[in-house]
Amino acid sequence: MNRVVIVVCDSLRTDLITPRDAPFLSELGRRSARFVNHASVFPSTTRTSAASIATGCLPARHGLLGNTMALDEGDGLVCLSVGRPDFRDRLHRATDPDGFGWVYNAAGSYGPGRQPLPAEDGLQIGKGDAGDTVATERFCEEVLQRRAPALALLWLSEPDYTGHHTPLGSPAHRRAIANADANVRRVAETVAALDSDGERVLLIVGSDHGMETVDETIDLDRLLIEAGLKRGATSSDVVVAPNGTAALLYFADPAGALVGKIAWFLEAQDWVGRAFVGGRLAEVGLPTGSAAQIAVTLKTDDRANPHDVPGHSHIIRDSLEPKDCTGFGQHGGLGSNEQRPFLFASGGGFGSGVYHGRSSLIDIAPTVLRHLGLDTAGMDGRPLPRHPG
Ligand SMILES: [Zn+2]
Repeated sequence: MNRVVIVVCDSLRTDLITPRDAPFLSELGRRSARFVNHASVFPSTTRTSAASIATGCLPARHGLLGNTMALDEGDGLVCLSVGRPDFRDRLHRATDPDGFGWVYNAAGSYGPGRQPLPAEDGLQIGKGDAGDTVATERFCEEVLQRRAPALALLWLSEPDYTGHHTPLGSPAHRRAIANADANVRRVAETVAALDSDGERVLLIVGSDHGMETVDETIDLDRLLIEAGLKRGATSSDVVVAPNGTAALLYFADPAGALVGKIAWFLEAQDWVGRAFVGGRLAEVGLPTGSAAQIAVTLKTDDRANPHDVPGHSHIIRDSLEPKDCTGFGQHGGLGSNEQRPFLFASGGGFGSGVYHGRSSLIDIAPTVLRHLGLDTAGMDGRPLPRHPG
C-alpha cells in the first residue's frame, strides 16, 4: 500500500537551510525534488497555512483567514484568536472534515470520530526543542512503525517558536534549526527502514512560511481612531484583525463609504506594503464579499539583521498579545522572506533535482491524493510535477 509521510518545520526559511545548521536537510534536498519557487499563502500565519496544506485550498475557500479573525456573534464584530476553543469546530471542518484519523496536539488529542483521548494517551509537551523531539520519537515508533496510516503528518514547532522570541540567525535560533534538522533525520531514517527502495512511501518535508525581522510596530487601531475613521478601541464599525506582518480589516454591515475612506487613508501610509480592497482580495486568495473587506501586508526591506539574516518588516500591534518583539522573527504577510518556505519531495516517483516552476502550499494535498490513488479534483492546488522541467 502506498503511504505518505509529511514533516513541517514551522517557519524555516529556505535560505537558512545551510550545511552548518541543517546538515541533514541540506543532504536530503540534494537527493529530493527541491521546489525552489515555493510560496506560502496570505496571510502567512501558521493556522492559515496549515488549513491550506490540509485542504489544498486557498483561504478564500477554507475560510481560516489568519491567527485572528473578527466575528459577529450578535453584538457586532469582535476580534478573536482562532486558537480559542470556539474556533475549534471551524478548524476541524477545514483540516479534518470527517474525523477519520488521530490528532495529537498539546492542546488536546483525538481519536477517530473526534473522540477525546485520555490525558495519558495525549501529547503532554511544550513548544520548543524538547517537545518536538518527544513528538518525533513517538511519531516514528507509534505512528509510522506500528499504526502505519496512509497519511501521517508531523508538525514541528521549531524554528518558529524560538524565532518569535530571539533574533533570526542568533545562536538560539540556529540551535532550533539544528534540532528541527535532527528530527527530520529521525523521520527520514524511519521511512528509509520501512521502504528501502523509496517507491511506496512519499516523503514530503517542508515549511509553512518563513519569517522577517520585526523593525517597527504599527498601532493601526490608534491611527484609525486619530484619523476619525474608527469610533473607539473596542468599536465594531471597523475591526482590525492583526496577523503579524499583515492585517485584515472587517467592516460592520452596511459599511457605506468607510471602506473607501480607509482604503484612501492606507494608500497614504508609508508603513503599508500593499493594500487589497474589495474585489482585489481575490488576487491574494482571500474571499470577496465577506466582512473582511481590506487586507494589508506591511512594508518590508532587505536590510540584514545583526546576524546577517536579510529582511525586515513592520508588524501590526496585536492588542490580544501586546508584546514588544522588535528584532525578533515574525510573519503573516507577503514579504519575500516570509514567503520563502522550502519543499522537498522524495520517493513515490519523484526524481531528484531543482524544480523551478511555481509551487504553493495548496499543491501538497493534491500530491498526497495522487500518490494514494485518489481523485485530486476540486482543490485549488495541483499535484506537483514528479520530474524537473
Ligand atoms: Zn509563527
